[in-house]
Parts: sequence; C-alpha cells; structure tokens
Amino acid sequence: MFLKRLELSGFKSFADRVQVEFESGVTAVVGPNGSGKSNISDAVKWVLGEKSAKSLRGTKMEDVIFAGSEDRRPVQMAEITLVLNNEEKKLPIDYTEVAVTRRVFRSGESDYLINNHPCRLKDIIELFMDSGIGRESFSIIGQGRVEEILSTRAEERRAVIEEAAGVRKYQQRKLQSEKK
Ligand code: ATP
Ligand code: MG
Repeated sequence: MFLKRLELSGFKSFADRVQVEFESGVTAVVGPNGSGKSNISDAVKWVLGEKSAKSLRGTKMEDVIFAGSEDRRPVQMAEITLVLNNEEKKLPIDYTEVAVTRRVFRSGESDYLINNHPCRLKDIIELFMDSGIGRESFSIIGQGRVEEILSTRAEERRAVIEEAAGVRKYQQRKLQSEKK
C-alpha cells in the first residue's frame, strides 16, 4: 500500500486545485519556509478524520479553508482527496485504488466520501484503523511527538502500541457493542 496522490483545493495555502503525485517514489517535500510543506501533512491528517483544530495548527476547523491573500479572495470550501494504492488489499475494502475525500464549507457543513460514495467519518476511521495510517497513527509523527510517546502516561503509550499491533479495531467494536 502506498500514497499515490493528494488533491488539494481551498485547503490552507492551496487556494487553487493542486495535485501532488507521490506515485513515482517521492520521499521528501522541500521548499522555503512558509511555502506549505506542513500544510501537506496537515491535509493528510485532516482527510483521515482529524477533529482537533489545534493538531492542525489552527484554532477552529474553519482555519483549514483558504482565508484569502493580498490578491485572492477567500474561498468557501476546502476539499482534500487522498488516493492510495490498495493492490495488496491492506485496507479491508474491495478496491485496488482507494480515494478518500473530505470537504468542509464555511457554514460548517461537511462531507466524507470513499471512492466518491458519501460515507460517515466513522467509516473512514474504521477503514484506516489498524492500517498504520489513521489520524492518530504512528505514520505521522509531528514535532514533539517522539518526546510525547516517551513521556506520556502508560495508558497512552499502550494505545500507540495497540494501534501498531492492530488490536484497536476490536476494542472499539467491543466498546460500541457494550454501549448498545
Ligand atoms: P516551515 O519551513 O517554516 O515549516 P512550511 O513550508 O511547513 O514552513 P506551512 O506551515 O505549511 O509552511 O505553511 C504556512 C503558510 O500557510 C503560511 O504562509 C500561512 O499564512 C498559510 N496558511 C495557513 N492557513 C491558511 C489559510 N487558512 N488561508 C491562507 N493561507 C494559510
Ligand atoms: Mg513546516
């Protein structure tokens, strides 16, 4: 499984629709300060369901929508699509290519789609749970996160290990069925 493509539109500094191709073995994104490198990793976290504006380096969710610049007006909607190669069927879904889309409007309205079919946030979280690339997984290590993993409470450290081991999905299901 690998990241093939990221499509950004109206997200943070990406006012226009931009496609970033990773297919050919891109391993690094370089650029001057403030050029949007971290916004790319924020986009990946966001489309995988990140709910905390703070962890996306903003104060409210609307901050992910392009807010305008000297010569551009603000836009009304941010949209990200993440396209993954799933030929090895690492994601439990019967497609060789998986496209996950998240959209948010200034009104607060939002949409989630898997391969262009509307779905719930829960479906996206569940699709990626235990795959190693979910919103809280270890595939995105922000600045300071290493220290956090080493020093947080034992329960939190265990959650990181459980996600890596692939047992979180079952715990979540157990919790949900207990609630019902
Ligand atoms: P560094 O090398 O300093 O880490 P970077 O390449 O990671 O820089 P980012 O943090 O990704 O840079 O991008 C920051 C830029 O994104 C800033 O210029 C900021 O104004 C812009 N930006 C962030 N949110 C928005 C938004 N909602 N609308 C418009 N621009 C935004
Ligand atoms: Mg940065």
